[in-house]
Amino acid sequence: MSSRLAALRASIAEANLDALIVTDPLNVGYLSGFCGDTGLLCVATSPGKGGGQYLITDGRFATQAPQEAPDFELIVARNTYCDAAAGALRSQRARRVGFEAEHVSYKSFQELKNKIKPARLMPTKGLVGKLRLIKDAAEVELIKRAARVGDRVYKAILARLRPGLQERRVAADIDRLLMLKGAQGAAFNTIVAFGPNAAMPHAVPGDRPLEERDLVKMDLGAKCGGYCSDMTRTVCLGRPTRRQQRVYNAVRSAQMKALEVVRPGVKARKLDRIARRYLEEKGLGKFFVHSLGHGVGRAVHEAPSISRRSEDVLEPGMVFTIEPGVYIAGWGGVRLEDMVLVTEDGCEVLTRAEKPRL
Ligand code: ZN
Ligand code: ZN
Repeated sequence: MSSRLAALRASIAEANLDALIVTDPLNVGYLSGFCGDTGLLCVATSPGKGGGQYLITDGRFATQAPQEAPDFELIVARNTYCDAAAGALRSQRARRVGFEAEHVSYKSFQELKNKIKPARLMPTKGLVGKLRLIKDAAEVELIKRAARVGDRVYKAILARLRPGLQERRVAADIDRLLMLKGAQGAAFNTIVAFGPNAAMPHAVPGDRPLEERDLVKMDLGAKCGGYCSDMTRTVCLGRPTRRQQRVYNAVRSAQMKALEVVRPGVKARKLDRIARRYLEEKGLGKFFVHSLGHGVGRAVHEAPSISRRSEDVLEPGMVFTIEPGVYIAGWGGVRLEDMVLVTEDGCEVLTRAEKPRL
């Protein structure tokens, strides 16, 4: 945590600010360790009295907060959070105060602006997000743990698939198993789609029962110690048709081709282009309707972006998904998704569940 705070202080100073108010709960957790659902941080660039880092929360978290965030001075807000933040900033003599423009409502902005006068409130973007882009060893360990839980749940679910099971039943089993196998819970709303429903990239599990020769698309993730995993597998119940084989194997090859080129220095958009071109060559390009992947960490979707428009360049310590998909209305869909960690000389695939050729 202390190296994260040192890096943050450097970027706050670089942005010519005296302090930053952190309100995004994922950023609060990343910097302080506090996992309660309401709380904010005030971090001063050059700490005055008392270390210059405050965690402001309310009475519900008075016991939990000092345990989770021992490096922060705890302020239990008596009035509003804005009052407490204004007091902390005053004690640090902060004049130019940054806030997270993407996570503060207009109402809070106005309240804060008035309370901290004569200090000025300045919008910032991605100051903490930039730090979260590169995962440290502790973060990688938690992500790997989450990936392993996902692998084990998938294996158990695969063994249970049989005709007649409803999508919602399979999704509920996945969620339950995620907890039983060690996760805090699901990292996102589990996707289970059978047959034609698999044509919707983010289908919501419903009542459809599983039928022989259905494609089964399952997208699941575990959350462990605040970190997420994300993996999709598609299988066929029973003997696949020619078309199912052709589409599945094309998606699988597109994913392999992108995985092969992951290493530091490669542009993220190149990965997207490789997978997309391959599917285009197979006549399936128009059915690949989303970008190739996204970063994963405390959020299921975070930087870097693995898309056509991405400006990101791969660096060691980045964790992201590679998930080509083909979605054909009325027929079904196939997506294969794995998470990779960029290493010094290539990458490590973190999700290991099997995905044999069809
Ligand atoms: Zn996913
Ligand atoms: Zn994903």
